[in-house]
Amino acid sequence: MNLALLFTEDFVAADHALLAGRRLAHLHSVLKATEGDLVPVGLVDGEMGTGRVLRLTETEALLQVKLTDPPPAPLPLTLVLAMPRPKMFRRVLQTCATLGVKDIWLVNSYKVEKSFWQTPWLSEENLRENLVLGLEQARDTLMPRVHIRKLFKPFVEDELPALLKNTRALVAHPGTSSPCPTHIEGPATLCVGPEGGFIPYEVDKLIEAGCEAVHLGSRILRVETAVPVLVSRLFDAGA
Ligand code: SAM
Repeated sequence: MNLALLFTEDFVAADHALLAGRRLAHLHSVLKATEGDLVPVGLVDGEMGTGRVLRLTETEALLQVKLTDPPPAPLPLTLVLAMPRPKMFRRVLQTCATLGVKDIWLVNSYKVEKSFWQTPWLSEENLRENLVLGLEQARDTLMPRVHIRKLFKPFVEDELPALLKNTRALVAHPGTSSPCPTHIEGPATLCVGPEGGFIPYEVDKLIEAGCEAVHLGSRILRVETAVPVLVSRLFDAGA
């Protein structure tokens, strides 16, 4: 937690926030904060700044909050991700939030097991918790939006073309002939397949919708590795 993300419900006065639970535990055990210290904070979807620790007990921390700086610019990327297996999903979600991805579309694909959609990690509360962890890691406040589409064909035919408009549209697929571009200018839409990969029908549908199939070399990467590798190829660190 490189920043404590604050929500309106944390505020007990205009510039005073109370922390408990995970964020309090972090102040104690990792930051070893004491009264008077300044800790980095940010208001969800708002500015970042510092919190002066006015009171610190075992049950709560009272911070005097000063918000002064804008969060980092969002990554100009729409990520279309075949629903990963639950164990990996949580990590991928956190990584996406840390990398600055703000628009995540979780879609079905032939090789996504039906049971993946039953995971409790897809509940509103759990999605938010993992996105918060990712944002806090990065020092960012802008909450990503997660859209769930459990039917591949209607999504690709009816919704994807509008998402791709005015973006560099890519589907990462091993074995294709074009390498993934680097340092692109402007926004992109990127489709990443499931553990077993997109089937040829799905790749064809994505290409038909306007995506270009690209590869990352002959090594097959896990989804959790492929996403940061793709993002860092596409966008410069300052983006
Ligand atoms: N056996 C699957 C295949 O050949 O498509 C491997 C799937 S890989 C574990 C999961 C996803 O990560 C892929 O669908 C693709 O989107 C992305 N990916 C992983 N390695 C890649 C590579 N070398 N080139 C392009 N995409 C890759």
